[in-house]
Amino acid sequence: MTNVWIPEQQADCENLIGGSFVPGSGAQREIVSPYTGVPLARMHDSTAADVDVAVHKAQAAWLGWRRLPLRERLEPLARLRASLLEQAEPLSLTIAAESGKTPAEARGGLLRGIEVIEFALGLQSADTGGALDVSRGVSCEYRRDALGVVVGITPFNFPAMVPLWMFPIALSVGNTFILKPSEKVPLSANYLGDLALRAGYPPGVFSIVHGDRVAVQALISHPLVQAVAFVGSSQVARSVYAESAAAGKRALCLGGAKNQLIVTPDANPELTAKAVVDSFTGCAGQRCMAGSLLLAVDQGVRLLEPIKKLAASISLGNGMGALIDRAARERLVGAISRAEASGVEVLLDGRQARVPAAYAGGNWLGPTILDRVTPQHEFAREELFGPVLSVIRVPTLEAALAIERENPYGNATSVFTSSGAVARHVVERASSGMVGVNVGVPVPREPFSFGGTKLSKFGHGDITGPAAVDFWTDLKKITSKWAPQVDATWMS
Ligand code: NAD
Repeated sequence: MTNVWIPEQQADCENLIGGSFVPGSGAQREIVSPYTGVPLARMHDSTAADVDVAVHKAQAAWLGWRRLPLRERLEPLARLRASLLEQAEPLSLTIAAESGKTPAEARGGLLRGIEVIEFALGLQSADTGGALDVSRGVSCEYRRDALGVVVGITPFNFPAMVPLWMFPIALSVGNTFILKPSEKVPLSANYLGDLALRAGYPPGVFSIVHGDRVAVQALISHPLVQAVAFVGSSQVARSVYAESAAAGKRALCLGGAKNQLIVTPDANPELTAKAVVDSFTGCAGQRCMAGSLLLAVDQGVRLLEPIKKLAASISLGNGMGALIDRAARERLVGAISRAEASGVEVLLDGRQARVPAAYAGGNWLGPTILDRVTPQHEFAREELFGPVLSVIRVPTLEAALAIERENPYGNATSVFTSSGAVARHVVERASSGMVGVNVGVPVPREPFSFGGTKLSKFGHGDITGPAAVDFWTDLKKITSKWAPQVDATWMS
């Protein structure tokens, strides 16, 4: 018995261009369930010509969309929120089926995405500008202008949440938006696209082009595209950022992560063990906020035993989902074997973990803990993107913080302690963009914005919250001069 949805027949996954679903003209690919290896859908990649049609339709739609008052642009978004809540269960099952998440994780990600919609719906009552008399008869005023056609390129691991970080705000402030979802998870994107159409977004306002790097290149080099938001691995984030900027576009590109969990000797054992295990095994470690490096300070190592026990009790298929594809599993199994060969102690080995028979064709790896890793080791510095926790034993908090600051990535750092002074010390000194205190996955909730530092983010600002309003708009400054006195008698 499986708890994950498998379609009765393979769906065809098409682009959403100009308000209609149309197939891409590139090569066909198959979308395969990470749980079972069974094909879920077929999809044609988009060519540069497909992208060009999508961009021109989005540009034509922008001319009308930008003129609507904010209140009217928010109407379809309010309807979309209602239908996402109504459809939360089937949509979560779709997300789980193609991404390998558990249905509960899929639902959690969707609800976080809906919080961004709620932030966008509040823009009507937020401060959207300002005006001031700067001298006699002269006033200065701010006005936010939309940019035009903008693009979001998203990863496989949050098929609904990451697109929802982007398009509700981008559309509400008056842009038209083209989503290029990961080619590994096109079904959830189309579910969102279908609901957006039904919610009343005019044709061309919200579009989807499927495909791989060919579609990305065509989007970021297209002269009518004004801004590029990207979320994915650091290597691709860096190149998309550089190419977008070279083409004169505004770009914000979020990358990968190697997040640290600093466990001090006075950490609460139950709370800490649960938070650490949830952090490195949730979404099978395939999330950019997963804790993957535990810095055990002095007697903090005592918590390794309860952490190991709890992680070993997780059942694959129900308690933890699957890796996205075979290649990911092979990469991780290879990395664990390399670690073992290099003298790292494999405290918990997920390579032989068992799964229910129905999931035998899937991509499974159980929770794995690598102890006595050194700070220079690849497992301390490289993102593995799986349920693997590397442990470095350090004598002092300062030694842990030194490793934290040397980390090439800067998404998240959490400290586990019962001391407010220790917590504050870490908050002040950590180099990551998001810091947790006794929280294993310190994702800020709306309206606090999401974004890291160092290799975890290329560009300025954050992807959600008030900074996203800045990213998706130009701030126009208007200075007006008026006669000091009005003589018109017809006014009174
Ligand atoms: P990925 O970089 O392989 O793909 C991301 C997107 O880029 C996809 O749409 C893909 O089609 C496209 N792409 C891939 N290679 C490309 C290339 N050479 N040129 C142009 N486009 C290309 O990432 P992924 O495997 O889908 O997702 C996992 C990664 O995303 C992890 O590194 C994870 O940490 C990161 N991530 C980061 C955040 C964050 O907020 N910082 C959030 C989620 C995921």
